[in-house]
Amino acid sequence: MEQLENFIDGGFVACDRHLESYNPATGEVHLQLPDSGEEEVEKAVQAALRAFKTWSKMSPKQRSSLLLKIADAIEERLEEFAEAESRDQGKPVWLAKKVDIPRAVHNFRFFGTAILHTLDTSTILSEVQATNYTCRSPVGVAGLISPWNLPIYLLSFKVAPALAAGCTVVCKPSEMTSWTAHLMAKVMKDVGLPPGVCNIVYGTGPRAGEAIVKHPSVPIISFTGSTAVGQRIQSVSAPFVKRLSLELGGKNAGIVFKDADLDKCVSTMVRSSFINQGEVCLTTSRIYVQEDIFQNFLDRFVKMTKEIKVGDPNDPDNMLGALVSKEHMAKVKGYIDLARSEGCRIVCGDEDLNLPQHNRNGYFLRPTVVCDVSDESRLMKEEVFGPVTCVVPFKTEEEAIRRANDVEYGLCACVWSENSGTTHRVAQAMEVGTVWVNCWLVRDLNVPFGGVKMSGVGREGLKDSLEFYTEVKTVCIKH
Ligand code: NAD
Repeated sequence: MEQLENFIDGGFVACDRHLESYNPATGEVHLQLPDSGEEEVEKAVQAALRAFKTWSKMSPKQRSSLLLKIADAIEERLEEFAEAESRDQGKPVWLAKKVDIPRAVHNFRFFGTAILHTLDTSTILSEVQATNYTCRSPVGVAGLISPWNLPIYLLSFKVAPALAAGCTVVCKPSEMTSWTAHLMAKVMKDVGLPPGVCNIVYGTGPRAGEAIVKHPSVPIISFTGSTAVGQRIQSVSAPFVKRLSLELGGKNAGIVFKDADLDKCVSTMVRSSFINQGEVCLTTSRIYVQEDIFQNFLDRFVKMTKEIKVGDPNDPDNMLGALVSKEHMAKVKGYIDLARSEGCRIVCGDEDLNLPQHNRNGYFLRPTVVCDVSDESRLMKEEVFGPVTCVVPFKTEEEAIRRANDVEYGLCACVWSENSGTTHRVAQAMEVGTVWVNCWLVRDLNVPFGGVKMSGVGREGLKDSLEFYTEVKTVCIKH
């Protein structure tokens, strides 16, 4: 069985306490990882502090060249990374090959080249004969904490800009999906990243994660995960006045107007509801359909959902693999039971799964569509983070906007209409960080990404990430 070791100061360091990590498709333990705590985090932070002295002074060109090497090396090992991600997380191998690993490569390449350009500005105030200019310097040792749903994709979205900006880092991936972080550590060693620039400690949130958040020499934390843990991080880090980026949960709405192009809309909404087993923060879990086309939309949506194949993540025909853990599957099933107890209609999802013998103990669920659900139901308010979506009718634009906004979260929304006036009006009225019009999950790292309300604080993306990991200073020179 694979046994992971922490990556500290450029070397792999054993830990005497271990946690077990399960393969969600078989229900069996498939690797062990360090159960790190304050002691391991302290060593990682000290290594990052030492490395910061030289890494932060390196030219952007030197840093860029190493980040591009990391991108190339991950790309060369695409198969290995994709298989590890699937085995650790439960997602289909084809999906990891098509999305997760290429996005991780892109993150390193994008920020590795972005840093060659400058954000600095200068102004001359002629009336007082003074010149202002700004300069940026890396903040210091960054603590990077990531979730289990898109493990290497989201971790690299933090590591790449932080290193590009000249920070050194201490990362903690989710204890449920640590394997590809370990493969990334190997890549970093192979390409000659200087020791201490990137350190990875494995373990649980309350022990390893919180030791990073509380460390006085880590002035900046980038966190992606649940709203509850984001709140905890805000309170624990408050006495240190740390800089925080918090990418948190979502309860995302899709609004389908009667003039939507249903050919494009239905297939995209099926994908946005169920891909990656619905374990995407941007998953659509509430679909509001204008009443004139409600039944037509529902029939087509359910037909396509029923065609989705669920099972062995190694089989390229399966669109969905396994949910990440037994506990998470029980939580998602709990929401389906809630729907039943509230008298909602489970339109599909109840059918038995015909799984191969070796997947019988895995955590598989059919995509589930729920109708006749009240706006006040917890199913319409809380993040399920699984393959369950609610489809309900609406009458007017105003009503759809009000109901879509009537949740604590504000991550993203989808709007479907062929009328550009409608799409602009509704997009502007949505209380979210991103609105996709007639599409979903079309991502460009040049634009800001993040949430409003309980979905988070701050944005990630070209300008936002590079600003986040740097301090700006204004220098005013009187002529
Ligand atoms: P989680 O909050 O349970 O854990 C996320 C990470 O935080 C893990 O590494 C965990 O070990 C660590 N952690 C837990 N407690 C901690 C503590 N007290 N101090 C420091 N670290 C701690 O989230 P999860 O279950 O891994 O991921 C699912 C959640 O992530 C969902 O709510 C989803 O919406 C959210 N998410 C958000 C985005 C986004 O971009 N907004 C992207 C992906 C996932």
